[in-house]
Amino acid sequence: MINLEIPKKAGALINQAYQAAAEVFRPISRKYDRAEHTYPAELDMFAALLDGLNSSGEGGAGAAGVRRNDDGGKGNRNGANLNLVLGTMEMCWGDVGLLLAMPRQGLGNAAIGSVATDEQLKRFSGLWAAMAITEPEFGSDSAAVSTTARLDGDSYVLNGEKIFVTSGERADAVVVWATLDKSKGRAAIKSFVVEKGTPGFEVVRVEHKLGIRASDTAVLRFENCRVPRENLLGTPEIDTAKGFAGVMQTFDNTRPLVAAMAVGVARAALEETRRILEEAGIAIDYDRPAHIQHAAAAAFLQLEADYEAAYLLTLESAWMADNRQPNSLQASMAKAKAGRSVVEIALKCVELTGAYTEESLLEKWSRDAKILDIFEGTQQIQQLIVARRVLGKSSAELK
Ligand SMILES: Cc1cc2nc3c(=O)[nH]c(=O)nc-3n(C[C@H](O)[C@H](O)[C@H](O)COP(=O)(O)OP(=O)(O)OC[C@H]3O[C@@H](n4cnc5c(N)ncnc54)[C@H](O)[C@@H]3O)c2cc1C
Repeated sequence: MINLEIPKKAGALINQAYQAAAEVFRPISRKYDRAEHTYPAELDMFAALLDGLNSSGEGGAGAAGVRRNDDGGKGNRNGANLNLVLGTMEMCWGDVGLLLAMPRQGLGNAAIGSVATDEQLKRFSGLWAAMAITEPEFGSDSAAVSTTARLDGDSYVLNGEKIFVTSGERADAVVVWATLDKSKGRAAIKSFVVEKGTPGFEVVRVEHKLGIRASDTAVLRFENCRVPRENLLGTPEIDTAKGFAGVMQTFDNTRPLVAAMAVGVARAALEETRRILEEAGIAIDYDRPAHIQHAAAAAFLQLEADYEAAYLLTLESAWMADNRQPNSLQASMAKAKAGRSVVEIALKCVELTGAYTEESLLEKWSRDAKILDIFEGTQQIQQLIVARRVLGKSSAELK
């Protein structure tokens, strides 16, 4: 089995994240799965700790986003992306819903971290930001944004509806994708930081979900909502040559993160399954061919191979980001592989162990897994992106 060593200096961070996952997340995992829509207050202290780590540059378990222009040099950089995915894997081994519910670690924070100017980064520091792209009329086709942002004096006026916004109710602000001019296509789509309490910004409802129930998912409405013009992230110019690149850049950072979430949940399911199988006297033997082992052991080996592939692709995509290499292809490959694998692994683990009731967290993980193959781009969309990149086709040529 291929096993790449991770940098020694990441060891302390991984260990800390693992301890937190085991001691903070796991004990309350089932509680907040049952108590959907109740804020996990236990996270407050933990979030403060994470803020400290992030501000000291040792972050690694949140979604702070990683900037590409911090030193402009070449070669192996500080490993911030790698740290982030390694920390995320550990935390999601604990509980992915709780990680998604962590204050100040929203996907909007990743967007701010990735595309904000230095001034904006400073101004929005400490803000918990959700990310609102999806609308009632589209999910996968993010170029179809129909929420509008019209410049009026010193403000943009936002109108539209957003659905499925993770942390949409609890976060302090939402990064909203809106179009400056629908006729100019995807280049006119910009993101805006809209703070809670801004007149015209309303949380319409919070959804009841299959999994990740500790995390709130909201429907938001913007009606003549005035946002200061300096809350537009990045540049206001509509550069049709550059197109969508600005807002889409976020995905190069967030897809490896979601892949890491999937890897974490998959590892949790595999570890628990191994424990149950071994308790039942079924040994998993790496020195004998799978086909002469117990059928459950053979199935386990296959699941583990998928897990390893997802893990390695995730590390690769993060490593490339750290090394200033364009990673869109690898980020989509990691997300596609990890998203599909975690669903298959978690369900198969339920099958192998019979852990179908609330007595086992395997039951919960098999529900939590599905969203990881959906948000930040579904399985099919990742495959489409991979195919376009490999075949050298544009989005117009391959839909
Ligand atoms: C719990 C949860 C949390 C979420 N959090 C957020 C969030 O924080 N912010 C946010 O903006 N959004 C969020 N989303 C939305 C999520 O990103 C979308 O659900 C996702 O992008 C898919 O969009 P859709 O549901 O409209 O499916 P659709 O786009 O309608 O797709 C339906 C099916 O068709 C497939 N499909 C679509 N186009 C193609 C194609 N060209 N080729 C092949 N197959 C295709 C899709 O893969 C999918 O299987 C969240 C969703 C959920 C359920």
